[in-house]
Amino acid sequence: MKQTAICAGSFDPPTLGHLNIIERGLKIFEKLIVAVASNTSKKPVLSVKERVALLQELLKNHKNIEVTSFDGLLVDFAQSKKINTLLRGIRNMSDYEYESQMALVNKALYPELETVFMMTEGKYSHLRSTFIREILLSGGSCKGMIHPLVEKKLKEKLK
Ligand code: ADP
Repeated sequence: MKQTAICAGSFDPPTLGHLNIIERGLKIFEKLIVAVASNTSKKPVLSVKERVALLQELLKNHKNIEVTSFDGLLVDFAQSKKINTLLRGIRNMSDYEYESQMALVNKALYPELETVFMMTEGKYSHLRSTFIREILLSGGSCKGMIHPLVEKKLKEKLK
């Protein structure tokens, strides 16, 4: 498939589950734009700049990945980039319910937009950025959940 897709999220922090979806997405799409949402209602631990820098470092070996951030609606960002495909990861039924509604809302706003869902790999299905933040805040280890670089950065921030 010769196409570019946007893989957007809050990535606060990026987990191995996010990276897995992005890397598998490259088997389907020619290019991916990994877009950090800067206007989520969640109170972030890492700034948008820090999340973009981490993702750039983690994905630096992939020449066909661009990491950036956006403000406002994802559909507006997609239109400004002239891209009409979104890649989303699905972990479980609650993701499916949320993501399917989101896809329909986005399609109502931007009818040419298609959302492609990719099922997580089982070993990542429990990974959620909120859990990572809570584990590290309480002094636990996130080995096997996030890249060591991300763990180091988060520990510095949560000190
Ligand atoms: P989170 O829900 O962890 O805060 P984001 O808002 O950053 O994640 O989500 C961005 C995208 O990545 C969404 O499509 C979400 O379903 C997907 N995603 C998040 N964690 C995983 C995972 N462990 N496996 C697969 N997809 C995931």
